[in-house]
Parts: sequence; C-alpha cells; structure tokens
Amino acid sequence: MPFKTEEREFTCSVCGRTSSHTIITHQDKPSGAPDLDLRPAGDHRSMMKYWAMECPGCGYCCTTIDMPFCSDASFFSTIEYKTCGDILTADETAARLIKRALVFIEEHSYKDAVRSYLAAAWSLDDDGNEFAAKQCRMTAVSLMEDHPAAFRGDNNFKLIKADMLRRSGEFDRVVREFQDTAYPSLLMTAINFFEVHLASAEDKGIHTIDEIPGISAAEK
Ligand SMILES: [Zn+2]
Repeated sequence: MPFKTEEREFTCSVCGRTSSHTIITHQDKPSGAPDLDLRPAGDHRSMMKYWAMECPGCGYCCTTIDMPFCSDASFFSTIEYKTCGDILTADETAARLIKRALVFIEEHSYKDAVRSYLAAAWSLDDDGNEFAAKQCRMTAVSLMEDHPAAFRGDNNFKLIKADMLRRSGEFDRVVREFQDTAYPSLLMTAINFFEVHLASAEDKGIHTIDEIPGISAAEK
C-alpha cells in the first residue's frame, strides 16, 4: 500500500454527533507521473475515498467533519445538497466529494470547490460514469467563470480549466481560450501547448505529464 490509514473518532462541528472515520496518516511519494490535471498516479488513486467524510447525523460532508461550517445548517436538508446538485451517481466517493464541493461553495471557498469537483470527476472516471464526470468538470469551469477574482493570476487553475474543458469535449473552447496563453514557467507553457495540441486533435482522453515532448524527468 502506498499509504497508511487509521480509524479515528470525529465530532461533527454542525450537529455534535461523534462518528468513526478512516483517515490517511502517511503517504509515499507517487512513483508514476501525474495526469495533466494532477490526478495522482497508480495506487495513490485509491486514497480518494478518504478525501471527504460525511456525518451520519446531519449529512455534513467535508475534508474532516470537525472543520467549522459557518453557513446555515438547513443547507444539508435542501434538495440541491441531497441530490448532489442534480449530478446522478451511485459512487459514494464521488457523491461525498460533490457534496464537499457544494459545502465549499456555500463557504465561498471556490478553489477548494473546484478541486473537490475535479476529485469527484476522477472517481466518476474510474466508475465509468462519463456523463456525471463531465457534469462535475463543467460545473467547476462555470464556478471559475462566475468567480473570476478567486482564480485571477493562478496558472495552475488555468491549466486545470484547459484540461477539464478538453476532457469534456469542449475542444473549440480550449483552442480559442488557450492557444495564445503565456506562462512564467517552461513546464506550464509545455502543458498548455500539449492541451491545445490534444484539443486540436479532438482527443479527450487521459494523458500524463511525462507524455509531453521535450519535458525532462527533472522538470516533472
Ligand atoms: Zn453532523
């Protein structure tokens, strides 16, 4: 196992109920190259199911349920929350990650929300649910466009957006929005170029950073 887990008790910051959850206590350095959207390689993917926990009492989903939730707890009873914002999935990991994204939106933590939607999309990719994975990616893209101030100047998110659009089959948008984008680093410029190249070829598959021509192992 490339990581170690442990059972611990957590007390929900919303309803006060204590429940047992598995958390990651140690992880080895990944051996393979990550995907273009930074999805972990190989065995590290199985860590995803521990990235969000759900309170069995009130339904609060977060990285850990003892993290404070500042908005109104009635949010967890809404149809929107209970139905994962209308993204249909039987994958419990994805559902928890989507609910965590909705919690982050409620808390105005838009970068965390995008990361959580992306992680949910990875889980849905593995589950073979292409439709729901696309919903997660496109919801994350909309979130970035609706809250530009939260993402301004963050090139990592810019590249993640390019990959989310390409994986969703929005090839024209990738080419139009990213073909002339400049970055401060050679690696980012190379990733951007590769995304535009893949989009031009209408390739919406998963690709890893080490597929990029001219990028040496040291730069990865
Ligand atoms: Zn609770």
